This record gives sequence, structure tokens and C-alpha cells, in this order.
Amino acid sequence: MLDMRQVTKVYRTELVETHALRSLDLHVREGEFVAVTGPSGSGKTTFLNIAGLLETFTGGTYKLDGEDVSGLSDDARSKLRNRKIGFIFQSFNLIPDLNLFDNVDVPLRYRGMSASERGDRIKEALSRVGLGSRMKHFPAELSGGQQQRAAIARALAGSPRLLLADEPTGNLDSQMARAVMEMLEEINASGTTIVMVTHDPELAARAQRNVHIVDGMATDVVSGPSLRAPAE
Ligand code: ADP
Ligand code: ADP
Repeated sequence: MLDMRQVTKVYRTELVETHALRSLDLHVREGEFVAVTGPSGSGKTTFLNIAGLLETFTGGTYKLDGEDVSGLSDDARSKLRNRKIGFIFQSFNLIPDLNLFDNVDVPLRYRGMSASERGDRIKEALSRVGLGSRMKHFPAELSGGQQQRAAIARALAGSPRLLLADEPTGNLDSQMARAVMEMLEEINASGTTIVMVTHDPELAARAQRNVHIVDGMATDVVSGPSLRAPAE
């Protein structure tokens, strides 16, 4: 699903050069649920943004679902992102002056679907996360956990192959965090590959696989009993 080889990312400003990714090798198979941990500043968000085609990289190769993305134009990259990838962020990133229905509609509007197909998908996605009766509510009228579920609905409505989550439970209390994690497990069980950055060791332990990023390089963590059966 995701194949990165020797990926590097250098941020250059007039004064400094930051090597955010030094030589990152990571292969994520279809259907995996991977938790990514690591110290602050080690390159986790940079990795996720590159994986999600939000950012370009400096060197190495990245194949998403078999397609080499290095040579793509900005436009082709956006299209591929829209078709294949869903995102969830720590800060939910819902648009405050749109109700939940319209928030979930935002990424679908770029997909060339009819209004009726979009409407069906929006209702289905919001129902799936238990917010079917809140479609007309605005983000500020919901709890943090509900807002994150709405963000999950927005990510899922486009039927992404790959779901990328950057600290999805970072702003939630532990009960809401567990509910969101359960939802992600369900989504993974239905076939969506998930890569999640988290600081929470309890959540990381629940993923099938743990990858540690330190100093811009990734390694698998093989210690520790997993609560779930390993992939394959
Ligand atoms: P993490 O998510 O693990 O905290 P990041 O990927 O956010 O780490 O950052 C990795 C390194 O790259 C850090 O040193 C950070 O300061 C730097 N960095 C991240 N984004 C930028 C940017 N847009 N411009 C310059 N440096 C950046
Ligand atoms: P943090 O993890 O620091 O709380 P976020 O999770 O909100 O930050 O966002 C992670 C990264 O994704 C940031 O670099 C941000 O610029 C980028 N980002 C956030 N929302 C979007 C979006 N809707 N489209 C594109 N990029 C986004």
C-alpha cells in the first residue's frame, strides 16, 4: 500500500537546513494498522504529510498503492490524494461555520460526484460514526470526541484505501480516546489500511504493528505482546 525507500526531507530556510527525514524505509501492507511513535521533532508529522501527498520529499522513492509519486504534478498529486487518502488530525480541522453535513461534503466536492451520491455518502459516513442525528449541528455544538468522529466521517466518506491519523486522540480525554480508537479498529477491520502517529503507548500497543521514528529514520518495534493477531 505504502512503500518508502530511502526517503529524505530537507527543509531549507535562509539560515538553517533541517534534515527532517534522513533515510526513511517503510513498507506498509494493505490492511495493516500501524502505530508510529517517536520523540518530538523526530519527523513523524513530516513522514505522515509526505505519505499523504501533502508535502513533497527531497530524495528517495515513494510508491503509493504501486504508483511512483515522485514525478507527479501538483494537480496529479492532489487528485491521487483525494481518491486514495483520508486524513484525521489532532485538532479535528472541521470548518466552524459549516454544519457536519457540509463539513463531510468538502472533500467529496472535488470528486466529481453528483449531489445525490454525495448526500448518500455523507449520511452513511455520519451514521457509521454515530452522528446520523447531528448532521445539521455545527462543530462548536459538539464534544471533542464527537468532533473527531465527524472528522473520521469526513475522511471515510470518500472511501479511502489509506487512512492517515496524526495524534487523533491528542485532544481527547481517555474515554473519548478509547472510543475513537475502537472506531479506527472497526474501520481497519473493514479493510482500510491505517497509519497513526500517537504519543499514547496504550493506543500504540493496540495497533498490529509499531514503528518508531527517531532522527528521521524508521524502525519496527518488535518487543511487547500484541493484543491483536499479527498481519499474515
Ligand atoms: P514530529 O512530528 O516527530 O514532532 P516533525 O516532522 O514535525 O516532527 O519535524 C521534524 C523536524 O523538521 C523538526 O526539526 C522540525 O522543526 C522540522 N520541520 C518540520 N516542518 C518544518 C517546516 N515547514 N520548515 C522547517 N522545518 C520544519
Ligand atoms: P498538530 O499535529 O501539530 O496538531 P495538525 O494535526 O492540525 O497539527 O496538522 C498536521 C499537519 O497537517 C500540519 O502540518 C498542517 O499544516 C497540515 N494540515 C492540517 N490540516 C490540513 C488540511 N485540511 N489540508 C492540508 N494540510 C493540512
